[in-house]
Amino acid sequence: MKKIVTLILLSTLVATSCQEKVKEEAMEHIEKVDDGVIVHEEYSGPEPTEPEATEFYEPKVPVVRPASNGKIPSDAIVLFDGSSLDGWVTSKDSSAVQWHLNKDGSMTVKDKTGNIQTKQNFGDIQLHIEWASPAEVQREGQNRGNSGVFLNGIYEVQVLDQNDNDTYVNGQVGSIYKQHVPLAMASLPSGEWNTYDIIYHSPEFNADGGKIKSGTITLIHNGILVQDHVELKGTTPYIGWPKNPPHGKGPLMLQDHGDNSRVSFRNIWVREL
Ligand code: MG
Repeated sequence: MKKIVTLILLSTLVATSCQEKVKEEAMEHIEKVDDGVIVHEEYSGPEPTEPEATEFYEPKVPVVRPASNGKIPSDAIVLFDGSSLDGWVTSKDSSAVQWHLNKDGSMTVKDKTGNIQTKQNFGDIQLHIEWASPAEVQREGQNRGNSGVFLNGIYEVQVLDQNDNDTYVNGQVGSIYKQHVPLAMASLPSGEWNTYDIIYHSPEFNADGGKIKSGTITLIHNGILVQDHVELKGTTPYIGWPKNPPHGKGPLMLQDHGDNSRVSFRNIWVREL
């Protein structure tokens, strides 16, 4: 009985100390000033009384011409503009891409030729990509217009023709596959072009391969926020748990789902962050 009481006391102490630690970490960057207002530590000291004291001019912000009229931002790297597939290889063996290059400036998955990926590797990026599933609807669930945008070549943002097509919600269009359900189903009708704008921050690993910081993804689908800075729990496998193999930069990969999905892509560019 004495042992049980001691154990309960010890557990309570450990739990209390953990709660205190979390509280301390949350308070790390804030402090109370005299009048009870809580401010960030950056703003400690006597509060300024002139507006100029809280304005600064350096370092200057880089000028980037925005995307408009079908053009891309001035500092973006174009990965696909419809002219060629030269910047891409077949993922499984690095051979030339066999997907269809269409006259309208898009490319379409050629069934069972495999995933494709960029020759160039990236870390943190802002990605713009447009995709369309076929207007002529075939099959259902995960077998209707399924593809995917794999960040770092590993983490899948799902592409699926979700119109009038039920499937598991953590695998529907706009999901981080089997990890994060989207906040909304924002697809246009089958056959129309959708936009994905993605902010991706890669996970960080220490020298021993341990993960010290999770990756994050924000996804805007046709102008609608569907993933709000969600934390990557690891890889996005079809079967099994997410894993956390250490990695550095990686390619952008597009999926051939292997069931004649005929998904098309166009206007792909990234800005390195
Ligand atoms: Mg997919």
